Amino acid sequence: MLQNDQIALWDRESFFHPSTHLAMHARGETPSRVIRTGSGVHIEDRDGKRMLDAFAGLYCVNVGYGRPEIAEAIADQARELAYYHAYVGHGTEASITLAKMVMDRAPAGMSKVYFGLSGSDANETNIKLVWYYNNILGRPEKKKIISRWRGYHGSGLMTGSLTGLELFHRKFDLPLSQVIHTDAPYYYRREEAELSEAAFSAQCAARLEELILAEGPHTIAAFIGEPVLGTGGIVPPPAGYWPAIQAVLRKYDILLIADEVVTGFGRLGSMFGSDHYGISPDFITIAKGLTSAYAPLSGSIVSDRVWQVLEQGTDENGPIGHGWTYSAHPVGAAAGVANLKLIDDLGLVENAGRMGAALKQGLTEALAEHPNVGDVRGEGLMCAIELVEDRPVRRMFDPQRKIGPAIAAKMSELGVIARAMPQGDIIGYAPPFCITQQEVDTVVAASADAVKAILG
Ligand code: PLP
Repeated sequence: MLQNDQIALWDRESFFHPSTHLAMHARGETPSRVIRTGSGVHIEDRDGKRMLDAFAGLYCVNVGYGRPEIAEAIADQARELAYYHAYVGHGTEASITLAKMVMDRAPAGMSKVYFGLSGSDANETNIKLVWYYNNILGRPEKKKIISRWRGYHGSGLMTGSLTGLELFHRKFDLPLSQVIHTDAPYYYRREEAELSEAAFSAQCAARLEELILAEGPHTIAAFIGEPVLGTGGIVPPPAGYWPAIQAVLRKYDILLIADEVVTGFGRLGSMFGSDHYGISPDFITIAKGLTSAYAPLSGSIVSDRVWQVLEQGTDENGPIGHGWTYSAHPVGAAAGVANLKLIDDLGLVENAGRMGAALKQGLTEALAEHPNVGDVRGEGLMCAIELVEDRPVRRMFDPQRKIGPAIAAKMSELGVIARAMPQGDIIGYAPPFCITQQEVDTVVAASADAVKAILG
């Protein structure tokens, strides 16, 4: 086995890490943590340190670590047929079975699923299909996409543009010109303190309508949003938000893409966030929870309405000019089949709902009265606490103080991983669905201890 110092050297010399301060890492100024194994909600590094992963990797290891059922399905598939493509009508038993399982679980009105590899590429597929759709319908000018500030939809050229976080744009010449951003449904950060949730939702919808009218409704093709804002701060929508937004979109014949990369397959305690909030999308993006990250696989679920036009398009123009070598990769598909079966067999969607409520309640009881905790929020197993310098006026800390990262680092010392979200001092929680009440209590205690250690 390689020694830790050898691994650390190779890491700094050779490995270009995503979302990392490259210079600091190469200079050895940031920790390099090598994870060796995992079981249930725990991971263990090479030094034998065991941690409770209350963020499920990147909110993706939904069934928990170390599931032999999925590992064996992957191994069996690799032995029998590691690869065949899905072009020109080809498939494998695993990919066809998974398509059927996804569509059996999808909200009403959806027709078929296209498989990709990552959430980013699935959203790229969605935007290409939106453009194709409007071209087939003879509306070549209806092409702009509206997303929300603080939305996260990936980090490709188009998807990085859709992402409404400045770090993903700055110095990359993004966003692309076809993308425009509207308000985040971030009730805690509303401008007028006295506004009710419902009034704030109406205001978000009114601002969206103003934007559409200013740009020209005939130029707006689609709106993309996560049912619950994820990377932008784990923000459940205020009451009435989705009905108000959908009414505007319908009025101007604008397609709706529900990005369920995080919420799909149970994280909110419902199979899909769309069902949870009464959203009727034209596209649903799925990824992480499709395989619980045991293998890379994503999907774009298209509605009946979109599918009709896609069929018309290929009748008029020939086969669709879109596909990846690894679309519907059989090993990923086998992982997906085993994963969705496990979610059903273990009742993990229900457990996510139950433990999500317990986590939110625990965090509220332990922290809601702390003078620097401005907000405790959550829906299902997506929870967050937001730290502020001055609670009555919701004033943020100076970002230079890096309060969020300091609390997350302290929690990590205490053996619990939570995520310092990238914008604002927000600690995010999204553990595996198999978490128990006792493990929830451990997460809550570590959070309270870390807040106390950093802020008193
Ligand atoms: N959409 C959402 C809502 C996400 O949270 C993410 C990733 O966190 C993505 C898309 C991008 O997925 P990926 O990182 O697999 O490209």
